[in-house]
Amino acid sequence: MDYCKYHPLTASTYHCDECEISQCDHCIDDDVEHNDVRCFVCGGTLSSLGSGADVAPFWRRLDSAFHYPMNKQALMLIIIASVLTSLGAFLGGLTGLVITLLTTAALTKYSFLCLQSTADGEIASPDASEAFSGGVKIILHTIIILFGITAMIMAMGRVFGDMPAALFAIFWLICLPAVFINYARFEAIGPALNPIEVGRLVVTLGGAYLLLLLFIMIMIASVGTINQILDERFYFFSAILQSVVSYYYLIVVFHLMGYLIFQKQRALGFVSRMESSADSEVRNERILLTARIEVLAKEGDFKQVLKVFNEGIKKHPNDYGLYTQFFDFLWGTKDVEGLDDFLPGYLSLLKDQGRQTQGATVYQRILLIDKDYVPKQPDLRYQLASSCFDAGKMKLVLKLINGLHRDSADYEQLIPAYQLMANALDEMPNKGSQAEKCRQLIRQLEAHPSC
Ligand SMILES: [Zn+2]
Ligand SMILES: [Zn+2]
Repeated sequence: MDYCKYHPLTASTYHCDECEISQCDHCIDDDVEHNDVRCFVCGGTLSSLGSGADVAPFWRRLDSAFHYPMNKQALMLIIIASVLTSLGAFLGGLTGLVITLLTTAALTKYSFLCLQSTADGEIASPDASEAFSGGVKIILHTIIILFGITAMIMAMGRVFGDMPAALFAIFWLICLPAVFINYARFEAIGPALNPIEVGRLVVTLGGAYLLLLLFIMIMIASVGTINQILDERFYFFSAILQSVVSYYYLIVVFHLMGYLIFQKQRALGFVSRMESSADSEVRNERILLTARIEVLAKEGDFKQVLKVFNEGIKKHPNDYGLYTQFFDFLWGTKDVEGLDDFLPGYLSLLKDQGRQTQGATVYQRILLIDKDYVPKQPDLRYQLASSCFDAGKMKLVLKLINGLHRDSADYEQLIPAYQLMANALDEMPNKGSQAEKCRQLIRQLEAHPSC
């Protein structure tokens, strides 16, 4: 399997023939404005990897699916759980029941985790330590789900008779893996018990689902075979071995179920996208923007990133998160000229949102990449100086205002700016004479406003 160029741990779902790169679902342009899925880098149409009608990838995955639990952590979990379950069965009574229940809970939790992480595109099996919390809840939910299905079948029998009830029972038997898949996907009992939801999942997964069923049947049969081969005298040993094999298969099957979801996620996601309201499209546009920026930045195409950021803040003039990202980008690329253009919008946004004092932090950060930085526009200098004054950074106030009357003689706020500087000098120790000089300058400016 290929991985996303920008997320080396995520399996790729698309390929750009033009750029010869593979991308994951996050790193593609699936804007609703065009019907196809496009490449962020070249804008060309992408080809989808493992499309819905293709069953083969599932078979190709089988070999590596058996390797999935083959790591120290997962194997230890399987072996310890098997010994404990067999011990529980051997002891019997309440102690035995509690041991069996807790072990089964941990293993079930782990299996569901495998399903979920595979569905998210993770190749390695999850950390075994995560198996030890929340397992009992899953067991309880599973029991509720199985009771719910039984109740539905019985109700069917009461109302429509034996034959429809038997057919309904067969439906649920075939759909049982889909029931668990839905439970893992939505982490809720409702979608797992809803025959329409479950049926839709089976139809969407199509042929691959039938293969999965076949595969599960072969596994169940092989566990039964172990039971027949081993003599009754080795009861305890046989029980452990059966548990090891069953648990191993359980993890493989849940991994494969997760893989089916992963493979068909676009088909499955499409269903929910059609049901959702229009406002998710607005959110999509914003998410798409961030994804585009991430890809272009990783490609090193900073010119294009700059362009996308500028278009983005025009579209989302009140988006504090986007502005902050933009600032971080300009700062990271040491683009001082870009900062000059960017700061007016950023500062007025900070002001509108009551975050003026952040201006001082912004200025201090810029000084880290350019220690002599003073903005070109006089208004920016005054605004930043006010923020610095509010934040108690008096030295920075001097740095910003000093020389303003020479650099921008026509600036209409010169007098308030120098008043701010005089106030800052008042706050500083041993600056009395400088404060007096500053006030002298203010008097000169008042007397000859245009000099
Ligand atoms: Zn990616
Ligand atoms: Zn491309």
